[in-house]
Amino acid sequence: MIKEILADLVRIDSVSNRSNEEIVNYIEKRCQKLHLMTGFVPYIDQHLVQKFNLIAVTHRTDKVELALVGHTDTVPYDPNWTEATNLTERDGKLYGRGACDTKGFIAAALTALATTKPQKPLALVFTADEEIGLVGAKMLAENQALRVRYSIVGEPTSLKPIRAGKGYSLAEVIVKGREAHSAYPALGASAVFRAARLINRLESIGAQLRQDQHPAFDPPYTTLNIGLIHGGSAKNVLAGECRFTLEWRPIPTQSSDHVLDLFNAAIAEEMQADPDFRCEVNASRQDTGFETSPDSPLVQLLEKASGKQAGTVAFGTEAAQMMALGSEAVVIGPGDIREAHRTGEFVPVDELERCADILRQSIQQLC
Ligand SMILES: [Zn+2]
Repeated sequence: MIKEILADLVRIDSVSNRSNEEIVNYIEKRCQKLHLMTGFVPYIDQHLVQKFNLIAVTHRTDKVELALVGHTDTVPYDPNWTEATNLTERDGKLYGRGACDTKGFIAAALTALATTKPQKPLALVFTADEEIGLVGAKMLAENQALRVRYSIVGEPTSLKPIRAGKGYSLAEVIVKGREAHSAYPALGASAVFRAARLINRLESIGAQLRQDQHPAFDPPYTTLNIGLIHGGSAKNVLAGECRFTLEWRPIPTQSSDHVLDLFNAAIAEEMQADPDFRCEVNASRQDTGFETSPDSPLVQLLEKASGKQAGTVAFGTEAAQMMALGSEAVVIGPGDIREAHRTGEFVPVDELERCADILRQSIQQLC
């Protein structure tokens, strides 16, 4: 049955840029067969496409003991990859877009629930737009759509429980200068030289961040990166503007604002040295990290059921939003994150089945 559900889910194209209406309708029907009560949390995305979060509960309450959370969207696929929407089994592996990220987890959750009878309230939560910035989950957190004690969030972790994750923050920095002929630099001010001074300072801030360590992570501190830079209009013109992106991944014990505060202090110093210095910082993402204690019953249960010690990851997941709904959260799922997001994505059959078993045990023990 689990393979059949996964084949159905993979057949429905749910790349983030389209509406996920078809896939949530399919999942809703499956949930109704399990006698769950279902409700949609719809919204219109930034391209005016209608998206849906789906919440299915076993009891008529908005306060649940356990939530199993999977995102319904996938990253795009190469149109030449014929297996992308046609789940194909080869050598114990199931190939298809979303097979591991995260339709495999969704199929496992539906299968687990079909063979257990929760005594306490349980929710299945299916989100939209995870791949483009956790948009659906953030919507649920903002609306406080439900309250949850424990959450299991599906992502391909090769069935290793992940109890903590770094946050993700992004800002665009626009440094202003004044254009002038490069033969007469005193007539203007180069935005590129100004940006270079700021970037030097950011490199020092990066070094300073290494002092604040969280040993559960690799690397054990907040990292930052300047991935893009663009400035100037011609080789013989003082640059009027220089833009760069600043990205940082804060350890969960540090607020996203910490790096911004250090950066703003650096900007203030530059302004003191150069009263003409102008710079704008537009922070566009401040996704918080998450951490659940290694002593949490949820962590211990999942360590025992999976036979693997809990770890951490340096990328964003919906666990932070589930924490905002009051829960302790752990990320776990079948398949390897390194196989996700590529042509030839697959989930090993044995991991898929073991995931259903782990979820079944979790429901039995927590609900
Ligand atoms: Zn995912």
